[in-house]
Amino acid sequence: MKLSKFFMPTLREVPSDTDTISSKLMLRSGMVRKLSSGIYEWLPLGLKVLKKVEQIIREEMNKINGQEVWLPLLLPKELWEETGRWGIYGKELFRLRDRKDSDFCLGPTHEEIITDIVRKEVRSYKQLPAMFYQFGIKFRDEIRPRFGVMRAREFYMKDAYSFHATEEDAGNYYQEAVNAYKKICDRCGFKYRQVEAASGAIGGKYSHEFMVLAESGEEEIAWCDCGYASNTEKTECPDTEKPKETALLPVEEVHTPKIRTIEDVGAFFKTSPVNFIKSLVYLVDGNPFMVLIRGDYEVNEAKMKEVFSASDVVLADPATIEKITGAPVGFAGPYKLPENKTLRIVADYSIKSVVNGIAGANKTDYHVKNLNIDRDYKVSEFADLRKVIKNDICPRCFQQNKKINLQFSRGIEVGHTFKLGTKYSKSMHATFLDAQGKENLFIMGCYGIGVSRIIAAYIEQMNDPNGIIWSPALAPFEVILIPIDYNDEKTKQATDEIYNKLINDGVEVLLDDRDERAGVKFKDADLIGIPLRITVGSRNLPDKVEFKLRSEANTSLVMLSDLSEKVKTCLKMN
Ligand code: ATP
Ligand code: MG
Repeated sequence: MKLSKFFMPTLREVPSDTDTISSKLMLRSGMVRKLSSGIYEWLPLGLKVLKKVEQIIREEMNKINGQEVWLPLLLPKELWEETGRWGIYGKELFRLRDRKDSDFCLGPTHEEIITDIVRKEVRSYKQLPAMFYQFGIKFRDEIRPRFGVMRAREFYMKDAYSFHATEEDAGNYYQEAVNAYKKICDRCGFKYRQVEAASGAIGGKYSHEFMVLAESGEEEIAWCDCGYASNTEKTECPDTEKPKETALLPVEEVHTPKIRTIEDVGAFFKTSPVNFIKSLVYLVDGNPFMVLIRGDYEVNEAKMKEVFSASDVVLADPATIEKITGAPVGFAGPYKLPENKTLRIVADYSIKSVVNGIAGANKTDYHVKNLNIDRDYKVSEFADLRKVIKNDICPRCFQQNKKINLQFSRGIEVGHTFKLGTKYSKSMHATFLDAQGKENLFIMGCYGIGVSRIIAAYIEQMNDPNGIIWSPALAPFEVILIPIDYNDEKTKQATDEIYNKLINDGVEVLLDDRDERAGVKFKDADLIGIPLRITVGSRNLPDKVEFKLRSEANTSLVMLSDLSEKVKTCLKMN
């Protein structure tokens, strides 16, 4: 490809409304343009990278017997109602109505659609296992579209769904899919971690995320040298707490006018939050729960969703709190709660350590002190409900009686694998006949990877002040060929010969034939991140050219006779 003919509108200036390095570089290099919030146009340079990532993923999916399909984007409400997700998906779902007043949505993910196909077309265990995948646009009306294509409202994803006759087969296949995801990440050439994850709106038994390590990442990862790694949404906080050995004091009601926050209570009682029983009223799928947690910890709502198999967990509004506790916000507690048959009181493990604790008295402007579990209040269950904090220990090492502190990094989630079990086959009555002619529910897995997000995540990790640093596997072109002066007859002749030779060798070459100064050409080459730069100039001709890797600072001279081999070696081509 000759650059003079290639549509690559690079920008010198840094666009002002960008929030990450990758979004700046994708705009500046002319890979994408923004149409509207979270909606992007992919220009030729960007699309070339997208197609490379797509092909790597396709090859790895085919190796694990995936069969490619193409599913619609416009999806009828009825299917989504079968699983209840028409309601659950909430505002993230783009909804629309056709001329006959039927409701549709723009697909954010395709579990319902593929399960519908399989329940209609796959009847026998003999047709299993089966895995189907597709590449396609997904629509999600994200609350905060940001970071360029990384959190867009319209984005490009590969989603895959597998169907199995037995748990064992589903489990084995899940591992194969995870291995395929590792290969995809390895081939793309970024540093990443596979972590345990919360399953969110997709649901299912357990899931793993693939995180590209980058400081700007939205996700936090907690990990340990033992191999444990998890999204901090999911990081287990084991049941380590023991009650302090101290005498139990009598309960005392204390007048605490306008003392509502943990800080106010601490100052008033002149004590640390480790002695507080923080009491929060939640609505869990609409049902009231009181969650107790030690005053120095925070509730992890993703854990609540998993523990209570709920899809919606929100703090109750002030009116509900007042109705349940009899007091305004800030004075709730587990002691002497008004009679309420539907309220469940659940405590985080940390509450086990609180002796002679302080909580709201369920009475305006009053707290109680010296509260003790069992003696003064009961909880229906203990669970791990808290957010992990910096000094927490590794839950796996703890099982081996070792106390090792967790380490923390930031990451960008690029892929997510889910062991779904029968979540969708059950609600959609998707069954097959087993060897005995008995009907069974399909056991499912699903595996998503954000093709467009991978590209931004890669750039986030692999850049320098001059621009992007592509790995040969993802680069839009493998080689950029720069003649210092293409108007000089000898330079032009040598450049064209090199260009033709490399093209014949199967190398993807971009020839910068523009009538620009060498400095400008070098700057653009660095910005768009082509892994190999070959500069042709009268100073080194007739037999040598300058050779430079984008990832290294130094240049070297290469004999024309060795060039072809040298290029192949650097690109790791056979
Ligand atoms: P997140 O927690 O970042 O919102 P998710 O859990 O909603 O992600 P999945 O439903 O598992 O994402 O989707 C699979 C993959 O699709 C993600 O791993 C990510 O790479 C990509 N993806 C999800 N949402 C977006 C988005 N808004 N823009 C671009 N890519 C996305
Ligand atoms: Mg999401």
